Amino acid sequence: MRVLLLGGTTEASRLAHALKSAGIETVFSYAGRTSTPIAQPVPVRVGGFGGVTGLRAYLADEAITHVVDATHPFAAQMSNNAYTACTDSGVPLIRFERPAWRPQSGDNWRGVRTTEAACDALPDAPARVFLAIGKMHIGQFAAKPQHHYLLRLVDAPEGPLPLPNVSVVVARGPFEKADDMALMKTHRITHVVAKNAGGSGAVAKVDAARALGLGMIMIARPDRPDSAVAPDTETVLCWLHHTADRGV
Ligand code: NAP
Repeated sequence: MRVLLLGGTTEASRLAHALKSAGIETVFSYAGRTSTPIAQPVPVRVGGFGGVTGLRAYLADEAITHVVDATHPFAAQMSNNAYTACTDSGVPLIRFERPAWRPQSGDNWRGVRTTEAACDALPDAPARVFLAIGKMHIGQFAAKPQHHYLLRLVDAPEGPLPLPNVSVVVARGPFEKADDMALMKTHRITHVVAKNAGGSGAVAKVDAARALGLGMIMIARPDRPDSAVAPDTETVLCWLHHTADRGV
């Protein structure tokens, strides 16, 4: 068995350790979105495969027998490519999927479908916004330049940011609720914009916003392909052994 583990999440790193402990040969793949990726206990490759065609070629060249998709819930392109390439190549695929966060009674929570809609949902009057969505799509919030934006990024920005009124904190999760409450108080945050990533590594900001009674604007996950899904590490390991025993 030789597994390609598509990573980028806290759970992907946990899976890498579990696969290593189980003695399963694994290659861990990073998109290359950060200059300081977390070290892994298995061999790592970095960067895109070159679409479906490139991934199909990679699966064949590297004699990959199974693919575990543990990418971020918003990395839909990678998941779609993995689904198509694995289907074409007859390589079994499972996606690790953590449950989405849900609003609780009393939450000031507004669900939206897109980043643009999240920007539209912000008030017109100047507010102080924790824009907890990574760096890829922050430029869309330039449409509301009246707000002060707090960004939390894994790497320090290399050039000017596309927002006029912005503070940056460089930090890597997982985060704690008490720390996120302190961060939001220090920056006098009134609204939190987040992607509904689910899981435990980034939920602190949701818990903190809830505790402080802040407005939450939650961007829903994109649709993902209809592949087999595992909610935890044990299910992934069982699935690997089961499909290997069946000779698929
Ligand atoms: P994406 O839109 O699904 O992927 C775009 C391309 O990046 C893929 O087609 C693939 O390139 C490459 N790629 C993505 N994940 C890869 C992996 N694990 N190994 C090798 N190549 C990979 O994903 P994205 O552009 O990274 O991010 C989309 C959303 O996910 C953003 O909202 C971002 O904030 C969020 N997100 C992503 C990560 C992450 O680690 N990727 C982490 C946190 C948040 P080829 O087509 O060339 O193969």
